[in-house]
Amino acid sequence: MDYELSDDLIALQDVARKFAAEHIAPYARQWDREASIPRELIGKLAELGFMGIFIPEEYGGCGFGDLEATVIMEEIARHCGATALMLDAHGALCCAHFMVGASEEQKKKYLPGLASGEHMGAWALSEPDCGSDAAALTSTAELDGDTWVLNGAKHWITNGHHAGVFVIMARTTPEGGPKGISAFIVERDTPGLIIGPKEDKFGMRGSDTVGLTLENLRVPKENLCGEPGHGFLDAMRVLERGRITVAAMSTGLGRGALEEALAYAKERKAFGKPLFEHQMIQFKLADIATEVESARLLTRRAAVLSDAGKDCNYEASVAKLFAGEMATKAGLEAIQIHGAMGYTKEVPVERYMRDAKLCEIGEGSNEVQRIIIARRLLEL
Ligand SMILES: Cc1cc2nc3c(=O)[nH]c(=O)nc-3n(C[C@H](O)[C@H](O)[C@H](O)COP(=O)(O)OP(=O)(O)OC[C@H]3O[C@@H](n4cnc5c(N)ncnc54)[C@H](O)[C@@H]3O)c2cc1C
Repeated sequence: MDYELSDDLIALQDVARKFAAEHIAPYARQWDREASIPRELIGKLAELGFMGIFIPEEYGGCGFGDLEATVIMEEIARHCGATALMLDAHGALCCAHFMVGASEEQKKKYLPGLASGEHMGAWALSEPDCGSDAAALTSTAELDGDTWVLNGAKHWITNGHHAGVFVIMARTTPEGGPKGISAFIVERDTPGLIIGPKEDKFGMRGSDTVGLTLENLRVPKENLCGEPGHGFLDAMRVLERGRITVAAMSTGLGRGALEEALAYAKERKAFGKPLFEHQMIQFKLADIATEVESARLLTRRAAVLSDAGKDCNYEASVAKLFAGEMATKAGLEAIQIHGAMGYTKEVPVERYMRDAKLCEIGEGSNEVQRIIIARRLLEL
């Protein structure tokens, strides 16, 4: 593995870094307070191609791979976890599911609008009664002539408040477990898709999260995405990529905590000298820096394997687990280094910590990652 980014990736990183500093950093606190990301930001992200990260050029995207995505996600999350989560659910979940399961016709119909930012994408697997054990989902889809009729409920759906296109998993055969689950493409205004109110969350507040009720929701037969009964397997493939993206998001949040704490430690004086000259503070910063670097390397390793078409289930889980825990810890340490100031919303580190905690829960919690990692260890 090459540890240096190529010139193209450095240029991409530069674009994303400047964009995040100019268009995200000054407003992220307001978006957190108002629990909303403005629609104009989506347009600006689309202009850079960031709404089409995972979409091939032939469908209007920029055809990036996972390594490019990790670079972009780290830069965005450095200033705003919520914007990164919005991009993750749109790109690494919804658009990525199209790339795994959709037919050529479906890709041509939906991907250009998703890449241009005309429509935001959402991806609905979790339900009120099952999250980690997603194979136990109970939403149903029954074929009635030329339409599928969906009934049930989904929970915690990122982007659901605004999304124009949803990929929704439902059970197409009565047998339990993963085999009877299929995926469906659902357009926002379809009667029977009832979008609930936004959740009032601890972190990632700018990113909207809603519940969905599927009430005799009629979807054209041709909107089945992938083979019938393959929806769960496809969803697991999607989540593998999602975990790499969440690991990159965590790396960005950890780096944000580090950079803010470092700047504060250089400026703030205690006992006649800057905080940074106190060895205990230096050690805290050194520890955070080491963990941010480690998270980035683990994340890029998984991304490089994924881009090469290799199995990276284990590596993606290792990266997500380590990076998620790192980001929360870095946020807490950064608050500590800021003292009382860190306990206020005057500085962004408390927001980074709140945002980071989601990375330990969503797209497979820490416990689920440990189960995946341990299973692989048992195979050795
Ligand atoms: C902000 C946010 C955005 C989200 N976005 C989406 C989205 O866009 N689409 C979507 O489908 N879902 C989304 N989710 C849902 C998310 O994927 C689930 O919350 C996650 O999978 C965990 O499921 P759960 O919350 O039901 O927890 P549960 O499954 O109820 O688990 C509760 C706790 O028990 C632990 N646990 C569960 N099983 C085991 C076990 N076997 N051994 C040990 N511990 C275990 C879990 O790790 C967790 O700590 C989102 C969640 C949040 C908070």
